[in-house]
Amino acid sequence: MNPISAPRGTRDVYPPESARWNRLEADCRDIAQRFGYGEIRTPIFEATELFRRGVGETTDIVEKEMYTFLDKAGRSMTLRPELTAGVVRALLEHKLLAQGAQRLYYIGPFFRYERPQAGRYRQAHQFGVECFGVPGAEADVEVIQIAAMLIARYGIGEAALNINSVGDPVCRPRYREALLAHFRPHAAELSTDSQRRLERNPLRILDSKDPQDASFVATAPTMIEHLCDDCRAHFDALRRYLDALGLTYEVNPRIVRGLDYYTRTVFEFVSSAIGSQGTVCGGGRYDGLVAELGGPPTPGVGFGLGLERFLMVVEKVAGEHLPPRRGIQAIALGEAARERLIAIVGALRERSAEPAFADWQDRKLTAHFKTADRNNARWAVILGDQELAQDQIVLRDLLAREDRQLPLVASAAEVARLLVEATG
Ligand code: ATP
Ligand code: MG
Repeated sequence: MNPISAPRGTRDVYPPESARWNRLEADCRDIAQRFGYGEIRTPIFEATELFRRGVGETTDIVEKEMYTFLDKAGRSMTLRPELTAGVVRALLEHKLLAQGAQRLYYIGPFFRYERPQAGRYRQAHQFGVECFGVPGAEADVEVIQIAAMLIARYGIGEAALNINSVGDPVCRPRYREALLAHFRPHAAELSTDSQRRLERNPLRILDSKDPQDASFVATAPTMIEHLCDDCRAHFDALRRYLDALGLTYEVNPRIVRGLDYYTRTVFEFVSSAIGSQGTVCGGGRYDGLVAELGGPPTPGVGFGLGLERFLMVVEKVAGEHLPPRRGIQAIALGEAARERLIAIVGALRERSAEPAFADWQDRKLTAHFKTADRNNARWAVILGDQELAQDQIVLRDLLAREDRQLPLVASAAEVARLLVEATG
């Protein structure tokens, strides 16, 4: 029989790589809680209608990328292609907005039917935050600082912050007209995707990665030039706050979120280290989203940060740092030693948070040391017939390559205590 492979565009994560994921997720949680954000967990599938309304009919995601299926009762369901829509659905369902501003973060998988390539998967993972109920640019800069702190912690500051404003329902219609006037005369020369966007959603042409559109995009009028007074004031405040926090940025008029409920601030952190899939984090303000999903008009701002891409950039820029050696490899040579060591290792695991590795197979000492290296163990504890005869146990420092003897007393708990003391 042929073995079964994982679906295209998905990947398995296993040791030692999974340790990097554990660390990154722990850092996301640590930073989010410093800012007073609590975790929200929502289902991996939702009613398809939620994403049609909450992501937008004219987006690539809804037009081409959703995993949609009928469940056994004939309801249309979709594997979430992003997490914000589900978060808003949950906020409304549990009436959480009535309690005032909500600061939430999430970590989890999302699904998009895309052409798999480096940094682009069909199941990928995001860390994201959402701040609801704060209209001012203080909230924009707050969420930006969360992403910036994570980036700084991993030494990948080359991932640069790009900001823009997409205006609001007052000024964007005027800008839309200006864009139409710019692109219409060249309609026939645009990519097919952009020709389709032209009447439906011309802002999205600015987002085009098609080289055919590049020269027309480069000369297009910018939203910044068309902002109304309120949007201008918001953008100026954002820039002041970023300066106050020492966060460097560039204004990039090409960054857009081409949906009506996106307002004012949009931003990305872009790395040049991993080629064309360099957007590690994308976010912005979506003051119209909650109302679009049937809730009370509520401002919101947040971001989604792709964990796969983040780790790719870390590996490329900061290099693969081997984590420090940790824990004890227990090595029993012979049946009698194994009997004694099982109790000692059991007691060690009760007493110490450091890993105790044990491979109870009958193998040569050198084979056990190889296992210890693979486990990245810091110490080895060795028990054989000779040690048993002398009531001793050998503790080997695997870094210094030095041995010392510890007394093998009758109580396993006491030996464990001595080991913890000697390795602490
Ligand atoms: P792109 O322009 O690269 O398609 P996007 O605008 O579709 O990105 P968002 O919807 O803003 O991306 O998602 C936020 C982040 O999630 C992205 O910045 C990226 O890091 C990550 N991401 C998006 N799609 C994928 C994918 N298919 N595989 C891996 N990561 C992804
Ligand atoms: Mg995309």
